Amino acid sequence: MLKQVAAGVQVHVSEFCQSNTVVVQGSDGVLLIDPGVHGHELDCLVNDLASAGQRVLAGFSTHPHWDHLLWHPGFGDVPRFGTSRCAATVRARLAGGIDAKRFGIPEDVPLELLGHVSGLPDGTTQIPWDGPPVQILGHEGHAPGHAALWIQDQGVLIGGDTLSDVLIPMLDLAGATDPIEDYLAALLMLEGLADDVEVLIPGHGTIGGVGEAKTRILQDRKYLQALRGAQDVNDSRIDASAKPGWEWVADVHARQIQALESSVQSERPKLP
Ligand SMILES: [Zn+2]
Repeated sequence: MLKQVAAGVQVHVSEFCQSNTVVVQGSDGVLLIDPGVHGHELDCLVNDLASAGQRVLAGFSTHPHWDHLLWHPGFGDVPRFGTSRCAATVRARLAGGIDAKRFGIPEDVPLELLGHVSGLPDGTTQIPWDGPPVQILGHEGHAPGHAALWIQDQGVLIGGDTLSDVLIPMLDLAGATDPIEDYLAALLMLEGLADDVEVLIPGHGTIGGVGEAKTRILQDRKYLQALRGAQDVNDSRIDASAKPGWEWVADVHARQIQALESSVQSERPKLP
């Protein structure tokens, strides 16, 4: 079911990790951002759009992780965009197909059209589509070629996988040289417009109102600084006992500590 969160902006929430699909109203159709996740949810979205008399003009994936790369034939064969680095990463990672089990992808998730994303040329500042300007704020904070999106007219910030109230900052441990620094740089960039954000839509979690972008930026920065300083982390999002079904967030946290420790180890000069 679509829920309006700002003028011309609707959200469809998934049971999978509280994922938010964003639907932006254009002049003659809609822009779909990160549609997902379960098959029946995508069917529902197709039906909701059809019964509202809306067609899809374009899609956008905020970053190259499977739950942000989904599509349904009912949305039509329309341009699907991402940043150039996002699209290149998708091409490289999906070249041999995807092991759904390894990634914990539920069985009913349709993967036929996974990742058919065209990269926008470097330096593209807005999504090319016939609707309100949607600014692309590229950064490397969570995944290669990640983009947050800013709809200035409505004060809507679409965070991709940042600024969540249910997920800690999840670092790009797959290849970034300094994943914490990349993430902190992303937060700094987003902080520059935080005062103007009226509606914050994270990739996963609760929609935030005025002031919430700033609050989550501070919370995420505090987490990252503690992680970098190898200090104790006091963050309610990793309190497994408080959130049945979200225990894996504590596992992500443990894995991040471990990965950072081993990268520090490998930087130390080896003894003869
Ligand atoms: Zn992600």
